[in-house]
Amino acid sequence: MVHIKSEREIENLRASADLVGRTLAEVARVIGPGVTTKTLDGLAEEFIRDNGAEPAFKGYGSSSNVFPATLCTSLNDVVVHGIPDSRELRDGQLLSVDCGVILNGYYGDSAYTFCIGEVSEEVKALCSITYDALNAAVEQAITGKRIGDIGSAVQSLCESNGYGVVRALVGHGIGQNLHEDPQVPNFGRSGNGRKLKTGLSICIEPMINQGGTDVFTDTDGWAVRTSDGKPSAHYEFMVVVQPDRADVLSSFSPIEEALDSIPYNMTVDIEHG
Ligand code: MG
Ligand code: MG
Repeated sequence: MVHIKSEREIENLRASADLVGRTLAEVARVIGPGVTTKTLDGLAEEFIRDNGAEPAFKGYGSSSNVFPATLCTSLNDVVVHGIPDSRELRDGQLLSVDCGVILNGYYGDSAYTFCIGEVSEEVKALCSITYDALNAAVEQAITGKRIGDIGSAVQSLCESNGYGVVRALVGHGIGQNLHEDPQVPNFGRSGNGRKLKTGLSICIEPMINQGGTDVFTDTDGWAVRTSDGKPSAHYEFMVVVQPDRADVLSSFSPIEEALDSIPYNMTVDIEHG
């Protein structure tokens, strides 16, 4: 069942999204070669709790398989759901950091892919196309469009440039639950699927592979990896469907201000707020 949000609920979600953005900015301030993902995870958890919220991913799952950390840190060929560990990051790696919070009963969820030190041109291009795909998808999140319009925007841009669009994982509605209806796939046909109503809050999160679309879950029960071992990128925004343009609750501005420089070219610029 799809739950359309009231203005009060949207403001709660905006506050949650804002905290996620500021948490990812804390990560951005220290990320780099020599830093471990466990270190990033610890500072993210502390920052979230200091701001009166709780990590949303820690303890998520079924009783037999619970996610153990605040951040999903997904390195290179890990698409999503990587568990932070004690290995030091190295120059040339790609790290997607996904963060969720619960603030005043409302969830926030957003992800950013960081380039560690100097990365290859291929990796920069992968990040750039994934970022562009997110922005193209956000442009479709307006009243009267359909779920398929969002997926089609991601799929057409990425596939026409030779990238693989992950099918096994999708975006989602968000509110007082982390994952609500509807599912928001990164593939589809324009004009197809559920009609988007004003006040629908969704997470749009393209997961794009340098190689093929196939993925598998690692033996830890969480990390989702590309089957061909090629790198994958992931960006995620929370948005609310509105008549003329989506209300983008997330912002990457705090993250990008915290980074010394943006390591790749952003070709599409979304205005926030
Ligand atoms: Mg996420
Ligand atoms: Mg999500």
